[in-house]
Amino acid sequence: MYFQPEIETMPREELRKLQLERMRESLRNAYENVPLYRERFDAAGVTPDDLESLEDIAKFPFVVKQDMRDNYPFGMFARENADVARIHASSGTTGQATVVGHTANDLANWGDCFARGIAMVGGDENSTIQVSYGYGLFTGGLGAHAGGEAMGCTVIPTSSGNTKRQVQMLKDCKTDILACTPSYALLIADTAIEMGYDPATEFQISGGIFGAEPCSENMRQEIADKLGIQYCDAYGLSEIMGPGVAMECAERGGLHIAEDQFYCEIIDPETLEVLPDGEVGELVITTLTRECSPMIRYRTRDVTTINAEPCACGRTHRKIGRLLGRTDDMLIIRGVNVFPSQIEQVITEFPEIATQYQIILTMNGPLDHVELQVETEPDFPIDEVRRLEDLRNRLAAALKSNLQVAVDIKFVEPKTIARSEGKAKRVIDLRGENQ
Ligand SMILES: [Zn+2]
Repeated sequence: MYFQPEIETMPREELRKLQLERMRESLRNAYENVPLYRERFDAAGVTPDDLESLEDIAKFPFVVKQDMRDNYPFGMFARENADVARIHASSGTTGQATVVGHTANDLANWGDCFARGIAMVGGDENSTIQVSYGYGLFTGGLGAHAGGEAMGCTVIPTSSGNTKRQVQMLKDCKTDILACTPSYALLIADTAIEMGYDPATEFQISGGIFGAEPCSENMRQEIADKLGIQYCDAYGLSEIMGPGVAMECAERGGLHIAEDQFYCEIIDPETLEVLPDGEVGELVITTLTRECSPMIRYRTRDVTTINAEPCACGRTHRKIGRLLGRTDDMLIIRGVNVFPSQIEQVITEFPEIATQYQIILTMNGPLDHVELQVETEPDFPIDEVRRLEDLRNRLAAALKSNLQVAVDIKFVEPKTIARSEGKAKRVIDLRGENQ
């Protein structure tokens, strides 16, 4: 049930003590060995000795991806070459690649973090895990592989591609757990079905650990149903480690952060203030044990919440909620931070409404005005005024309570909002234009 019970169920107070001790050590490692941190800390007038409580981390400056690019490739390493066991790199599709180094201890900790996810889907040393993430500079394949080995599983390193062979291995090798991206999991499931199998009943597979790309609630359900598995959402990023930073237990409702390894904060991306647990904002991560590439207050740009409620699974580590998008998507409406994905979440709770929507922002005098265009499902009696008004009122109330912003709702005929093959254009912001 747990991979490291003494750590995963550690009483909060003890855990916070461990975090503080490790955070001090991590700050020292960064300050003493990485010129960028020394310069930044000095400029901010702080030293590692100023950390007296976990919350004191807020005194320290942030780092961002650009800092890693500017110090490409090894400028932010805190270890000499002899101690670096491996490097990984981000793809660099949006600019200069970023390189992260791992010592042998870093790699061992990574394996442990991922192995906790294997336990969350019911795996143990008797399990067979098929790793269908790509192997290479990308952290998915080797991260999941390390997890399987840490747990003592039989690891099948298929990597991605050759999907029919993947299906055949799943079946013939009696794979229990599949690890890959959600879109690849769906392709594997569909390929198996095309090949004439019903993986949900004919295969032994019972768990899946999926991450590295966004996945909608519908797609997630489809994968879980087609493969007949418990779905574990894995969070991670190459700048911090890779998959395993946070993993979703069987209770769902969030991903347990490996809090003995990472300290997470949620900040307002505009004011940079730390927000209390439960509020929506940008996830900021400080690594507590990483030797080669310590990250102090790394701004992930990922938008989520931290849930500190006790979890029925018995793990004491706080959870992050589903990712709600990137900070780049954030809108500021009447001074309130709003993410389009928050609106989407509300809409999905209304079965009468299709998932397509559009947000149109205009100025109404000095105030922002928000119009939300939604389509009713084709079988909804859009001519029945009373039912339509009832739906409008319920939707408006739900939006108001979730966003703290009043929204004007406009119903449009089914299939009138433009569909897009790629990223849908959800927001039309006309506030900067003359009206
Ligand atoms: Zn849990």
